[in-house]
Formats: sequence, C-alpha cells, structure tokens
Amino acid sequence: MDAQKIAKERCEKLLRMAREAYASDPALAKRYVFLARKLSMRHRISLGNAAYCKKCNTVFIPGATLKVRIAKGIRLNICLSCGLTRRIPFKH
Ligand SMILES: [Zn+2]
Repeated sequence: MDAQKIAKERCEKLLRMAREAYASDPALAKRYVFLARKLSMRHRISLGNAAYCKKCNTVFIPGATLKVRIAKGIRLNICLSCGLTRRIPFKH
C-alpha cells in the first residue's frame, strides 16, 4: 500500500465524518475539514472543488451548506456559511 493512497482514504473518511457531524456539531465538522486539509496538503492530494469551503472550512453538503448555480459553461459553488463563490468552468 502506498502512503498516498492511505492518506487519500483518510481524507475522504474525515470529509464523510464532517458531513455526518455537521447537523449536530458544525464546529466539530470544521475541525474534521481542517484535519483533512492538513493531510491533503502534506501528501499533495486534491480534495476536489466541491468538498469544502476553502475560506471558512465548512464541509459542503448540497442544499445545506452549498448552493450550486449553473451559468454558461460555468458552475458556481456558493458557500452558504460565508458566501464565498467559486467559479468552476466545465465542458459541455
Ligand atoms: Zn465558506
């Protein structure tokens, strides 16, 4: 097993735990996201664009903490916690 793969699995687990914890304990959810980010930075892993807010560490749950808008060739991910908007171009 390579370390990269193990780290990626741990990141995904932390994000899953964050989504589960969010409803009852948002602060704990942020802590999990923070740990996942630290791990991903150390191992140079990408967690994707729709996993968490890069500004306030809120885990993205579509409809709860994340609003998605689709415009011409651009997807807008809006954090409902701090209002940060990210533009993600996509191909048709
Ligand atoms: Zn945010």
